[in-house]
Amino acid sequence: MKVAVIGGGPAGVYAALTLSKHAKVYLIEKEDRLGGTCVLYGCIPTKSMLSPLIFSSFLSKFGVNVQFNLNQLREYAINSINTISKGVERLLESNGIEVIHTTGSIRSSIVHAGNEPLNVDNTIISTGTRRERINELKFTEDLAYSNEDYKSVIVIGGDVGGIELSWMMRKLGKEVHLVDRNVSLLTNIDDTLSNVVTNYLSQIGIKLHLGKEVSKISRSSIILSDGESISADAVFLTFGRKPNIEGFEEIPHDKYLYVDEYLRTQVPNVYAAGDIIGTFTAHEAIYGGVVAARNILGYKEEFIVEGVPKVIYIHPQIAYVGVTSGKCVIVNTVSLAKTVVDKEDEGFFKLCVRDNRIVGAVAFMPNAEDVISLISIFIRHQMELKSIMNIVLPHPSYLEALTEALMRLV
Ligand SMILES: Cc1cc2nc3c(=O)[nH]c(=O)nc-3n(C[C@H](O)[C@H](O)[C@H](O)COP(=O)(O)OP(=O)(O)OC[C@H]3O[C@@H](n4cnc5c(N)ncnc54)[C@H](O)[C@@H]3O)c2cc1C
Repeated sequence: MKVAVIGGGPAGVYAALTLSKHAKVYLIEKEDRLGGTCVLYGCIPTKSMLSPLIFSSFLSKFGVNVQFNLNQLREYAINSINTISKGVERLLESNGIEVIHTTGSIRSSIVHAGNEPLNVDNTIISTGTRRERINELKFTEDLAYSNEDYKSVIVIGGDVGGIELSWMMRKLGKEVHLVDRNVSLLTNIDDTLSNVVTNYLSQIGIKLHLGKEVSKISRSSIILSDGESISADAVFLTFGRKPNIEGFEEIPHDKYLYVDEYLRTQVPNVYAAGDIIGTFTAHEAIYGGVVAARNILGYKEEFIVEGVPKVIYIHPQIAYVGVTSGKCVIVNTVSLAKTVVDKEDEGFFKLCVRDNRIVGAVAFMPNAEDVISLISIFIRHQMELKSIMNIVLPHPSYLEALTEALMRLV
């Protein structure tokens, strides 16, 4: 069997690797480097820049002050990008995947690599999203590749990316203005989380301009809907990427490609996975790539996004999963032994159950991703509370927030 995978981001790479033991795989990537948005502009540069600041934030609790500057962080980011992108290249090569660096498309039902038709049995479209340039405005994706420094920044968009960028800049000692049209941050996830995180960001000195639209924007200033004008050394936009549909217009779509639960598009033998179907994280893209590939190999696996964990990488970390409705309990994590040991002075964990099952949780504490990932397993496997009560978690650990919550709920 021959398969074309179009797009070398997380979805495409994992699809290609899954297929490679059983099929001849062509991976078509239009950029010179592999890894897609995540490795080159997204997850990897941002987390490489955040990681040292998270460590220094931990150390500050013990009275140790370690300072970083933006250029040091950029150096870490570029190193990580190069290491991981090269690693992906070697991984694909060692699995016998043929990488073709050109633009892929489907025209008159035939896959093309550039202008060359490619004779394949199946195709996975994993072309993700792109950043569209608006005049001279800056985006989070530019940060690692620039050498400008700033005393003050305006961040527009208070979702995941806006919170991470604002926190990073504030920890570097910059004056930060964060603007969002909602009256508090993360409102669509959970009210408690929204209140706590909005207060926390304000407490660390981020100037919040919430419930306001931006009516005018330039390279170094904005005017808000209420007429307020704010100036800074740079304005960063953190949202508004566009799906890469070009070349695939004949595959039924709206903003994103339409797929069914098996990730089949409406064209026979053409599948799609990753941000091009409207998911927004690298782990959903990886999972989608694997599901599409396995379905090509003859399995019949559904792509299920219910219970996928989401993380915001600041300190304390923010993570959430599912929906926080039903019967909920809130644990103040300051009472955990691990929190005392680590000298952490804030945080909470909220757990919600309905019909004898966990339906959702949010956490604002170090290692939040661990407890939320554990709960993700419970949700995705529809485990009943009586089985979950049987788990044993290490002491002292942040995971004990779950034990505390269960003891109060059940
Ligand atoms: C600033 C930022 C930070 C982020 N941080 C995180 C994070 O911490 N964790 C997380 O889970 N997610 C994060 N994301 C989201 C994550 O990057 C995406 O969800 C993920 O990259 C989607 O993977 P993908 O494979 O679907 O698409 P992409 O990674 O976008 O890859 C698509 C690839 O297809 C190529 N391509 C496009 N069109 C064609 C064509 N016609 N022919 C050939 N090749 C083509 C592109 O060049 C690209 O390499 C972040 C995103 C941004 C912007």
